[in-house]
Amino acid sequence: MFCVKCGKEGETFDGLCIECFLNGKQLITMPHHVDLERCANCEEFRINGHWVATPLKEAVEDAALSSMAAIDGMRVVSAGVMTEEKDNRNFTVKADVDGKLKGHAVRSSAETIVRVKNNVCQRCSRQLGNYYEATIQIRAGSKELSDAHRDATVRYIRDRIENMAATNRGIFLTKVEEVQGGVDLYVSSTSLGRTLAKELSDAYGAETKESSKLIGKTEDGNDMYRMTYLVRMPEYHVNDVVIFEGEAYKLAGIGKGNGKLIKLSDLRESSIRRSQMSSLRVHTRFSEIIKATVVSRSENEIQILHPYNYSTVDVKIPKGAEIKDTADVAVIDGIVFFVP
Ligand SMILES: [Zn+2]
Ligand SMILES: [Zn+2]
Repeated sequence: MFCVKCGKEGETFDGLCIECFLNGKQLITMPHHVDLERCANCEEFRINGHWVATPLKEAVEDAALSSMAAIDGMRVVSAGVMTEEKDNRNFTVKADVDGKLKGHAVRSSAETIVRVKNNVCQRCSRQLGNYYEATIQIRAGSKELSDAHRDATVRYIRDRIENMAATNRGIFLTKVEEVQGGVDLYVSSTSLGRTLAKELSDAYGAETKESSKLIGKTEDGNDMYRMTYLVRMPEYHVNDVVIFEGEAYKLAGIGKGNGKLIKLSDLRESSIRRSQMSSLRVHTRFSEIIKATVVSRSENEIQILHPYNYSTVDVKIPKGAEIKDTADVAVIDGIVFFVP
């Protein structure tokens, strides 16, 4: 075969040798300009239909490269980009591309202008519009929810949401409202509300109750509900001294289905079902446990100063317990117990 243009013998493409075929041909093209959406609130960029947190320069380059088209049969092997900032919203991006076309190595380049446009992503528009699908109501079992307990719970929820939001853009905390008897937290999705209520139940031994309210129809005609998760925090906390069936225990832990108890009279461990835990009565809060002065110690016993009358009292301790100058004790019906 001969090239119809230069007469060179060999392989031809549309009647031309490779040199004549490539001569003057634009192998890659870019549009005159590309719009890059940036959320004015969270400053994330929309790349290929997804909002992502990415540095400006990368977003500009990604936007330019994803607008690039190569002619039929060409495979792009690598692309280098050069970005020039015209002003803080307009960037000229030049791409140099190495590729393969019909078995031959080819190079080409193209240029476009990336224009950064402000917009608001769906998450921010929902968050700014106070959107929520579920409410988590934190309440105490009997008395008022203590400030410390409320703050700890709100902090727990904030941390968990921040954590989950790192990998799921749909997740956010809409607002936190202190109300009579507790606190209400408004969250972006039903599943988030359900997950957090379950976690609080597992972590603190809280009782949860779910209710729903019909609030309208979705775009596709389904009923739309708003969920409320009532989380009743128990009076007891891990490390409190509690009374169960007339005996004093330390509540050593709370698991998914049970609680771990240590009996103060013999320091033996046992477990209690979650359903039985509602009968636990708090005797001494962890924060109010008395530190008694240790006078002397042996392997199974310590001698301490009675916290009320300062007489010396012998108190049983578990084997290998680390005892310093003071020991945690609880006084129950006049008897002093070591709290492990
Ligand atoms: Zn030719
Ligand atoms: Zn945003």
